[in-house]
Amino acid sequence: IQITNLEKVYRSDEMHTTALNKVSLHVQEGEFVAVMGPSGCGKSTLLNLLGLLDDPDGGSFLFNGMEVANATEKQRAEARKRNIGFVFQSFNLIDELTVFENVELPLIYMGVNNPERRQRVEEVLEKVQIKHRQNHFPQQLSGGQQQRVAVARAVVNNPKLLLADEPTGNLDSSNGNEVMELLSELNTQGATIVMVTHSEHDARYSHRIVRMLDGQTVMAEQMA
Ligand code: ADP
Ligand code: ADP
Repeated sequence: IQITNLEKVYRSDEMHTTALNKVSLHVQEGEFVAVMGPSGCGKSTLLNLLGLLDDPDGGSFLFNGMEVANATEKQRAEARKRNIGFVFQSFNLIDELTVFENVELPLIYMGVNNPERRQRVEEVLEKVQIKHRQNHFPQQLSGGQQQRVAVARAVVNNPKLLLADEPTGNLDSSNGNEVMELLSELNTQGATIVMVTHSEHDARYSHRIVRMLDGQTVMAEQMA
């Protein structure tokens, strides 16, 4: 990720809000970066841009060699599907589908055939230690278990980049730590991670904290 002077402005009839004001950020392959800052400073906006879910209004964003501003919507959707996994604070699992089916969904979108899907879903459920619950529905699981399923869904494609928006925000500390251990392990196995968090504790699992204020990055700290 090579972001230079990135700008994002939300416009409406009455007002416009500069959510990102010339943000620059480089993230190397294999890094684990935490983004912190007060509510409203632009963290979600940055994550949405990193996830190719929204367009910048200025600056440059090179993702995996592609200049995002010059890419077509189709190229961006393709890059998102192949290269990016998302984890949210609120899990965002589909309640009507089983654990297995939730995790299988991205592979169906990718056109992966049935036997290969089964194998990959089982592998990843084993990795997040929830395989014994594969036929349960999300509501039958604890919050920590649901988030582990959400992480499994995010990584079942082997994306290059994992984006997490307050992944432990709805979890107690023991479940939160389990999820952080899992993210840490996935990072060790090669995933690049950018995580928004309000938790200094969670940020210590990262390599580097980027601090934001009023739409700008104000400071970066290297973790020991
Ligand atoms: P966070 O928990 O990161 O602080 P927010 O509550 O700021 O998240 O934002 C949650 C969602 O609401 C985001 O997708 C963001 O884009 C959207 N949002 C935030 N502020 C506004 C706003 N003023 N108008 C419309 N949507 C907003
Ligand atoms: P954070 O995630 O750090 O809480 P956001 O990125 O959600 O911050 O918001 C940054 C700024 O942009 C805030 O002033 C917020 O109100 C505004 N904002 C975010 N999303 C929208 C939106 N969809 N429409 C209008 N304003 C928005």
